[in-house]
Amino acid sequence: MVDNALSPHGGRLVERVVDNKEEALKLVESCRSTLTVRGQYARDIVNIAYGFLSPLEGFMNQEEMESVCRSMTLPDGLLWPLPIVLDVSDEEVARRKITKGQPLLLEYHNVPFAVMHVEDIYDFDQQAMIKQVYGMDMADHPGIKWMHSYKDKFLGGPVELINPPIFQDPYADFFYTPRQLREKFARRHWRRILAYHTRTVPHAGHEGIMKAGWFQHNAKAILVSCAVGEKRIGECIDETVLLGHQELVKSGYLRESVCLVSMLLWDKRYAGPREAIMHAIIRKNTGATGHVFGPGHAGVEGFYDKWAAQAAFRDLPDLGIKPVVTREWFYCPHCGEVAYSGLCGHTDVNPEYFSEEGVCSMLSTGVKPADYMLRQEVFDTIIGAADRYGFGDGYVTEEYLQRRNPIFTLAKF
Ligand SMILES: [Zn+2]
Repeated sequence: MVDNALSPHGGRLVERVVDNKEEALKLVESCRSTLTVRGQYARDIVNIAYGFLSPLEGFMNQEEMESVCRSMTLPDGLLWPLPIVLDVSDEEVARRKITKGQPLLLEYHNVPFAVMHVEDIYDFDQQAMIKQVYGMDMADHPGIKWMHSYKDKFLGGPVELINPPIFQDPYADFFYTPRQLREKFARRHWRRILAYHTRTVPHAGHEGIMKAGWFQHNAKAILVSCAVGEKRIGECIDETVLLGHQELVKSGYLRESVCLVSMLLWDKRYAGPREAIMHAIIRKNTGATGHVFGPGHAGVEGFYDKWAAQAAFRDLPDLGIKPVVTREWFYCPHCGEVAYSGLCGHTDVNPEYFSEEGVCSMLSTGVKPADYMLRQEVFDTIIGAADRYGFGDGYVTEEYLQRRNPIFTLAKF
């Protein structure tokens, strides 16, 4: 029985996975055309199929996409911040005979993966989308660059996952569907759960955010949710992020009875405030009751104010998950410890701020950052994971992008 105090966004947990092989085969046979999807779409499909994106049942049709971009709501008025769309070229539509009203087989790595019931094939106004979602139109913004790469049209319609992902090492230890998470929470009698979103190895500043959030939310537990997916050079590799957080639990800095490390397939959209709202909705769907937001959440340096994501929640109606905001943690030489900007008054000394780049660059030299910055056990784990998964580096290199272990594979169909 799934017992959780919080209902999914829109009231119902979407599950669109066809487990029955015969049924799946029938679905495949009904398809007249096939489209190959790339990694990001495969990850979106998994998210839709298991309900991380409830109430979405597929990729957005024109009405949904336009409503979301314009007013941040689905057509029925439910709050929804980001377009979830599938792009396709005119040439592909013609060559593959993709037709409205017909089922379309979506292949990933040359294997049947999902079936989409194509409801809509539509043009979109790229400039309007960019302005509405990002609130700016700077061409060098990574999220905007990504939108610029959209092909001619979007396909809209519900999808069904027919070939569930087989998660690989170490991801298999961290992937739980929203249903599985809700069941886990219920078994552990966790009713107030604070979600924490991350894409980096945990330094002391992150630990501070989690702990402050836990206190502020009066939470029973912390759900660490590591965003795994597309990475850019210089970022932490996915494996170090997962294993680094797991190490915090293993070494007792966060006790196992109050912390669960999990993963989310998510390619960062760099959409600052709107993306923060998306993160909250996704974690609401997994059963969390609060979501902590530290400084600079989901933003890109130079494009969004450090507190933009936190401010995004100010004028929103009740989302059904509590946004918990914390200020900054840094090392204060006067306090002689990691201090909180809301409390430490030593304005006469230079605090040492933590940064992902700072930790990553230290890792690249193999020199361990100071104890107050990074736990010894976490450092050791990161170095081990770097050797095992990162070709010697704990951060993303060209080689990692080319040769990284797959997050998941698919069974032959
Ligand atoms: Zn101080």
